[in-house]
Amino acid sequence: MKSIYKQIYKQIKKYNNIVIARHIGPDPDALGSQLALREIIKNKFPKKNVYAIGNPASRFKYLGTLDKIEEVPSNSLLIVLDTPDIKRIDGVDLKDYNYIIKIDHHPIVDNYANINCVDDNASSTCQIILDMIFWLKLPLTEDISKNIYTGIVSDTDRFLHDYTSLKTFDLVTKLINKTNLNFTNVYEPLYIRPLAEIKFQGYVYQNLQITDNGVAYIKITEDLMKEFGVDSASAGNMINNLKFVDEILVWVFFSEDKKSNLIRANIRSRGPYINELASRFGGGGHKYASGARLTSWSQADSLVEELDKLIVN
Ligand code: AMP
Repeated sequence: MKSIYKQIYKQIKKYNNIVIARHIGPDPDALGSQLALREIIKNKFPKKNVYAIGNPASRFKYLGTLDKIEEVPSNSLLIVLDTPDIKRIDGVDLKDYNYIIKIDHHPIVDNYANINCVDDNASSTCQIILDMIFWLKLPLTEDISKNIYTGIVSDTDRFLHDYTSLKTFDLVTKLINKTNLNFTNVYEPLYIRPLAEIKFQGYVYQNLQITDNGVAYIKITEDLMKEFGVDSASAGNMINNLKFVDEILVWVFFSEDKKSNLIRANIRSRGPYINELASRFGGGGHKYASGARLTSWSQADSLVEELDKLIVN
């Protein structure tokens, strides 16, 4: 990776206009890496124009503010974080850019960049950015440290998931040592939730359907969300809690989004790999954590059936 980091640095040094993007529906890893990288570049090169773009996520706005650009300046460098596929890059037309760098920890889907800095064994994109910071000896600040740590903690679910490695712990230890980060302060804003969401969580657990072979699923309609006073992000906030349930090997939450005319599927597994099946349904992701945007409830039923077959196979 060291030589790729050097190549990335060379391009950052070369371009005066730098746009940093990430995937739609941003999570703390996407936002943390994006905001940290903007600050790193700005600190090192104060005269450069550096923009972190994409739709904000209200739940994570405490991590920092995003930029809006009316028009992409000519001769711009684009850095895309945490996004394996072109269709999920938020707010970007690749044609507007002279040079593109991809930094990601997902398995490769689209080859859209001039430099591909991809490590699908890394726990998170924030981990790769942190590794790059140390290799290139870039200065860290408290805010950079907080955003990077938040991204790593969130994507590993507090160091629980596979891909959490010795390297993850090494890098995080170094980060805390260097910046004196008060890391326990990171958890409250990250995990605080309204009581309505906890009550909704109770409903979800009470009403899970389970197939013969161990696929658990629930269909969350907009009416249901309205009844409980929660939003469409709620399902995503609780999906990981089912990781260690004896009778469940694969689990899916379907959340209806009428405005966008789609049904969002959050899919998880502690058995078979699910990312290939997710991509057959127009989505994608990691071996054990994937997602998709479906167009109908019958497609949701088919996905459950296919996941059930996957377990049998
Ligand atoms: P989520 O369930 O939203 O936390 O997503 C889990 C993983 O699946 C993440 O790594 C996402 O990048 C990926 N993912 C989620 N939704 C989609 C989608 N519509 N298309 C491709 N990948 C997705």
